[in-house]
Amino acid sequence: MGHHSADSADFTVNAAEIDLIDRYQRLTDRLRQAESHYGRAEGSVCLVAVSKTYPADHIRTVATQGQRDFGENQIQDAMTKIPVLEDLGCSWHFIGPIQSNKCRDIAFHFDWVHSIDRTKIAKRLSNLRPVDAEPVNIFVQINLQNEATKSGVLPKELGALVDEVKNLPNLNLRGLMAIPAPEAVFDRQRTTFATLRELLQETNREHQTNMDCLSMGMTDDLEAAVAEGATHVRVGTAIFGPRLRAEAIL
Ligand SMILES: *Cc1c(COP(=O)(O)O)cnc(C)c1O
Repeated sequence: MGHHSADSADFTVNAAEIDLIDRYQRLTDRLRQAESHYGRAEGSVCLVAVSKTYPADHIRTVATQGQRDFGENQIQDAMTKIPVLEDLGCSWHFIGPIQSNKCRDIAFHFDWVHSIDRTKIAKRLSNLRPVDAEPVNIFVQINLQNEATKSGVLPKELGALVDEVKNLPNLNLRGLMAIPAPEAVFDRQRTTFATLRELLQETNREHQTNMDCLSMGMTDDLEAAVAEGATHVRVGTAIFGPRLRAEAIL
């Protein structure tokens, strides 16, 4: 190694950081390729980088690559990071199950919530949203395959929930979200995502809503989601690597 001048220290990048940047770039290439392959406009699918379990400095590294949207599924974990990353001006997406006593922090710190499945939580978020903030963008989470362990409303319960939340003053009902069971066969992944898209279209027609977003697709099924009209994909592992603690995806 040659001699380093004092200011070259600013450019010292460690190996883990290089890996992270490399994974991020590979994932964004994968997403751009999927957009182009399925006739979606370039950059039209929002990448939500799921940073749950990862510390703030990993998020900062990804943000230096131009990433703006980050997803968290636990409020305690998120609150160790959001305040120290305020200078980044990023958008925060809440993607996990929501307890009532966490609504205040979510209403204060998140721009998007992907996991609405109860009227009570929606009302609390609306009531607790600071007056000077834009409405929170919300997705209703759908339990598409009627899985006992998963959050979300069943498709047949969606209409009633939508009627109760669509006019809440500080929420903006934007779309539907789902976390299908892992499925290796690409065409079956597509069929499930197509079901969510059709449910959105049908709900817009029958409940006078104009939802325009679909939050679907993760590390292992993002291409199928892009093919079926995802506007938001939520990707963790492919960017940040294996998670630092086990996390159930509910
Ligand atoms: C963790 C999580 C993801 C990301 O999953 P990966 O398979 O790591 O991409 C997406 N959505 C939700 C709701 C999650 O909890």
